Amino acid sequence: MGRKHARTIHKTRPQTPSEAGSSERGLSSFERRTRANASRARVNNATLTAGSPMHYYCRLCGEEMTLPESHSDSAPTVCRLCASEGRHTADDHVYGG
Ligand SMILES: [Zn+2]
Repeated sequence: MGRKHARTIHKTRPQTPSEAGSSERGLSSFERRTRANASRARVNNATLTAGSPMHYYCRLCGEEMTLPESHSDSAPTVCRLCASEGRHTADDHVYGG
């Protein structure tokens, strides 16, 4: 009777000091977003017909934010993603926030 014996492999990953550091090697989602938005065409609100939604762009990453033309809030200056990452200041108006 052969008994299967399970082999437990203990893999310990050594923690290097660089991993614990705050510098990121890869692109953060913010950087990826900023790059993608930089190459995206922007809408000039002045060229829109009456009743069209207004287009705003995050001052930090360029993310597009749209509001109805009749919106009563002040124009957003930062997108929700940047706000959730804590990149905004107290003077910023967070989109939808
Ligand atoms: Zn943003």
